[in-house]
Amino acid sequence: MTSDPIGAPQDGVGDDSGGDSGNRSGSGSGSGVGDGTRAVRAGVPEARLHAAPLPGPVFASHFHLPGDPAGAEYSYGRDANPTWRALEQAIAELESPDVPASALVFASGMGAIAAVLTGLLRPGDTAVLPGDGYYLLGSVREHLETAGITVRTAPTGTDEVYGLLPGARLLWLETPSNPGLEVCDIRALAEAAHRHGALVAVDNTLATPLGQRPLELGADLSVASATKALNGHADLLLGYAAARDPRLLEPVAKWRKTFGAIAGPMEAWLAHRGLATLHLRLARQQRNALAVAHALRERPEVSGVRYPGLPDDPAHPVAARQMRFYGCVLGFTLPAGRPAAERFLGALRLVDEATSFGGVRSTAERRARWGGDDVPEGYIRMSVGVEDTDDLVGDVRRALDEAAGA
Ligand SMILES: *Cc1c(COP(=O)(O)O)cnc(C)c1O
Repeated sequence: MTSDPIGAPQDGVGDDSGGDSGNRSGSGSGSGVGDGTRAVRAGVPEARLHAAPLPGPVFASHFHLPGDPAGAEYSYGRDANPTWRALEQAIAELESPDVPASALVFASGMGAIAAVLTGLLRPGDTAVLPGDGYYLLGSVREHLETAGITVRTAPTGTDEVYGLLPGARLLWLETPSNPGLEVCDIRALAEAAHRHGALVAVDNTLATPLGQRPLELGADLSVASATKALNGHADLLLGYAAARDPRLLEPVAKWRKTFGAIAGPMEAWLAHRGLATLHLRLARQQRNALAVAHALRERPEVSGVRYPGLPDDPAHPVAARQMRFYGCVLGFTLPAGRPAAERFLGALRLVDEATSFGGVRSTAERRARWGGDDVPEGYIRMSVGVEDTDDLVGDVRRALDEAAGA
């Protein structure tokens, strides 16, 4: 596919209702509207006379609670908060517009991941994790193994994972993967995992629920760092887990309450506020990412440009089947290595050198500087923002010229 004007529907993904029926109860948006409409309405309460359209953050460590506390919706601030609830409803609507679902928000993406893995797995269980996913999965693996859980790993997008499923309790996928941008077939893997009686969780950080809906593709849980593209403004950390089966979230909620990885009301409110522009941001970021990817490919000093939205990217065929937007992250290598990569990053003016991704301002970094990823010294992970496409492409071209001339 080529770059699309903002708001144009994406190719490759049809109406994915998959025979499921029913509407989310109590939802302000639900099914029957487009993703952009859903994003501006998600979790927003019914209009009330003289009330704010999106109620402000509720700052409370406890709630007024006389008498018998049984059945109280709000009691103590570690259990529930109305500002989380509104964001959780919004995320559930976006992750699963056509079938009721629920979500839980956390202090960070890692808080959500820890809650799902340690909430659902028991000593003696086996989990299958990507070997090339978010760099902290290695550390997560150590913790799981210490707790008596067996961990098997396979690279994202390879068939190796199918052989690891017998006897597994949980399959964890990350697609597209960070930082390698490999993609795996969620639907096919979920079917295979379910045949073996394993649950399937997908790290949906890179795509966001407007880019990909794992629950519609058969996954049991969609888990993400909302710190990145979902919030999109690089001003908070937050995570979430969403599922259609409320029983799956019960131990996850209990873990949150017990270990206290709770979201701040201000963070939850800011993320909810930002959801209204998620659709616009993703459309512009995809256009910018494609334009930058094409510009990089014209350069002899650049190799290995990866972006799942590029029609001839190895990940594109699967990505086109399951993604609505291809995201804001692209990867490429300056084979001349670290000095060339550092000169390039230093010469950029519209792209800040920083880690993380998904924000409205473009960022890039040399991933090997952290030492945790299996990438070449000159590998750059770039996150495109919502700048004017020509400005961004011009900045990248000029920085490459300067890096070559130095
Ligand atoms: C950043 C990231 C996380 C961790 O999220 P935090 O909000 O930083 O805790 C998990 N998975 C992926 C794919 C990420 O990029």
